[in-house]
Amino acid sequence: MQPLRLLLFCLLVLFCYSSAAYAETDSSVTSSPDVLQEIRDFHQPSPFDAESSRSSFSAASTGKATFADVPADHWAKREIEFLYERAIIQGYNENGVMKFHPNENVTRAQAAKMIMKALGESEKKVTRARFTDVPPSHWAAGWIERAVEKGIFKGYEDGTFQPNAPLKRSQMSKIIAIAFKLPEPAVAKNQQIFRDIKPDYWAYPYIAKLYYHGISNGSDNQFMPESYISRAQFSAFVARALNKDFRLSVNSPAIATGKVTADTLNVRSAGNANASVIGQLVRGTVVNVLEINGYWAKISYNGKTGYVHKSYLKLKNISGNPVQGRIIVVDAGHGGTDPGTMKEKTYEKNIVLSVAKKVKQKLESAGAKVIMTRETDVFKKLEERVQIAKNNYAELFVSIHVNSASPSASGTETYYDTSKNPNGYESYLLAKAIQQQIVSNASMKDRGVKDYNFYVVRNNNVPSVLIELGFITNNSDYQKLTSDYYQDIFAQSIYNGIVQYYSQ
Ligand SMILES: [Zn+2]
Repeated sequence: MQPLRLLLFCLLVLFCYSSAAYAETDSSVTSSPDVLQEIRDFHQPSPFDAESSRSSFSAASTGKATFADVPADHWAKREIEFLYERAIIQGYNENGVMKFHPNENVTRAQAAKMIMKALGESEKKVTRARFTDVPPSHWAAGWIERAVEKGIFKGYEDGTFQPNAPLKRSQMSKIIAIAFKLPEPAVAKNQQIFRDIKPDYWAYPYIAKLYYHGISNGSDNQFMPESYISRAQFSAFVARALNKDFRLSVNSPAIATGKVTADTLNVRSAGNANASVIGQLVRGTVVNVLEINGYWAKISYNGKTGYVHKSYLKLKNISGNPVQGRIIVVDAGHGGTDPGTMKEKTYEKNIVLSVAKKVKQKLESAGAKVIMTRETDVFKKLEERVQIAKNNYAELFVSIHVNSASPSASGTETYYDTSKNPNGYESYLLAKAIQQQIVSNASMKDRGVKDYNFYVVRNNNVPSVLIELGFITNNSDYQKLTSDYYQDIFAQSIYNGIVQYYSQ
C-alpha cells in the first residue's frame, strides 16, 4: 500500500470508528464514551443469559458471527442477527471489530429507536424540542418524537425524557405489549406464571402477554421485573414479537388444577414410571394440570413442568361442569348368576343396574366419561370390576348395592376403605357427599359412612365408595328401591354427591 493510500485508509478507519461508536445511531454526535460508561455502571450480571435458550426457530444459524461478542453459541444470536439484517440494530464498530455489547442495559432512547424501526416507522423531523433533555440535535430525537406520537413512550412530568436512563424488564413488557399490539391471551386470567409476579402487580397483564405469546419465559420461574433489560434480552423480545418463528414454545393453558392427595407425590421428567424424578410435591399442594394422557398428568407448578400420576391428584376443572372430562366408573353390583339380595322376585342386581344406568346418563350429560362395569344382566367377578377401572384410567369408582337384614333395619350407608386404598381420605369425602345427598333427597334413614375393606373399594387406588341404597327387607325402603321415581332420586343424589366432591 502506498503511503498516501495508507494515510487515507487510517483516516477512514478513524472516521468510521468515531462515527459508529454508539449503539443504535447513524449520527452519533451526542453519543460519547461517558454515556457508554454510564451504561456499564448500571450493568449487573444478568441471570437471564439463559433466558429461553431454545426458541422454536429451527433454521440453521449462519456459522459466522456478525458480532465478536455474540458468538455462535450465544443464546440470543439468531434474534440479534435477525434484527441486524433488517437494520433494526447496528451495533458498534470498534477498531474494525463489530461488537453488540449484549449485556449492557438498553436505554430509553435506544429502545425508542429500535421499536420504531421494528414497526417500520420513520424518523420524525424535529425542529423544536419537546423534552428539555432531548434537543433536536440529539441522535435519537426523531425516533423519540415518533415513539411519543405513537403513544408508546411518554416523558416525565418535569419535561424530561431521560434518554439515557435504562429500562426495567417490567417497563419493557408494557412497551412491547403495546407497541406490537399483543392480543389478550386465551387463558384463564390471573394465573401465577412467575413466582415473583403476583396477578395484582401493575405489569402482570403485560408480562402475561409476553409469556403466553412466547416472547419471554424468564429464568428459573422468575421474571425479575425490577432488573434492567439487557440489549440481548431486548433484541430477543423484539425479534420474537416481530417474527413468530422465534417464539418460545408456551405451555398450553391449564385445563384443571390438581390437589395432591398423597403424602408425597413424585414429579417426573416424562409421563412414565421409569422417568427420572425431578421433584416432589406434598399433600395439599395445588398444581396446574396442562394435559392428561392415560395415568399421567402434565403439570406446571411454580413455572416448572413435569409429570405426576393422576390418581394422586384431585382434579378440579378451570371452567365448565366439575365432572366434565372426569373418568368415572359406575359399578352396578352383582349380575347374571349372582342376583345379590332379593325379596321374592325382586333382585338387587336389577335395582342397582337401573340406578347405575341413570347415574351414567346424568354424568354423561355433564360431560363425564363414564365406564360401566356391566350394562346388562351379566356376572362380573370383583377382580374384573377393579381391572376395568384400571384399564380405563378411572379417576373415581362408585359401586351401587342394596342391603338386607331383618325388616326393622332401614336406611342408607356408604362405605369407603382406608386400610389399603391410598385415596382413603378422598374416598371418605366422596362417601360423605353422596350419603348426605341420598339421605336428604330420598328421605332415607342416615346410617352413616363407614370405613370397611370391601374388595372393590380397597383394591382401587382412586377415591372409591360402595353405596348401600337401602334395605330390600324393609317395607318403606323397598317401595323406594322399586320405584322409578325414587330410583331417579337415588341416581340424582349420587350424581350430586360426585359433583359436590369435585367442587370442594
Ligand atoms: Zn350387593
